[in-house]
Amino acid sequence: MDCLFCKIVAGEIPAAVLAQDTGWLAFEDIDPKAPVHVLVVPKRHLADVGELGSDPQAAAAVLAGVGAVARQLGLTAYRTVFNTGAEAGQSVFHAHAHVLSGRNLTWPPG
Ligand code: 5GP
Ligand code: ZN
Repeated sequence: MDCLFCKIVAGEIPAAVLAQDTGWLAFEDIDPKAPVHVLVVPKRHLADVGELGSDPQAAAAVLAGVGAVARQLGLTAYRTVFNTGAEAGQSVFHAHAHVLSGRNLTWPPG
């Protein structure tokens, strides 16, 4: 399958990997939108958060990965975002949590 994040999971495309476990991989976003911008992906290909939700084991793995990244980086405040659909800004159709921190991330933006 021609999927960028599957290729990163497989090690076929390099990425700055922070951490991983059997079900998830965390790596730095190549174009960070905040001082901390990490992507957490399920190792299994699932296109978006809707598909991720249909696989409870993968969904739990991604949330465990988010927590592990936050602990590893010592984050006390961060925002977790799942964009779903191109009109909402999804550009890679392999589910991923954005973990954003290091600037004002209150919602809704002021
Ligand atoms: P989306 O727009 O689908 O919610 O998020 C995709 C994210 O993947 C974007 O923030 C984008 O900067 C990031 N991205 C795109 N290509 C690559 C890549 O080759 N490597 C890494 N590490 N991140 C990428
Ligand atoms: Zn994939």
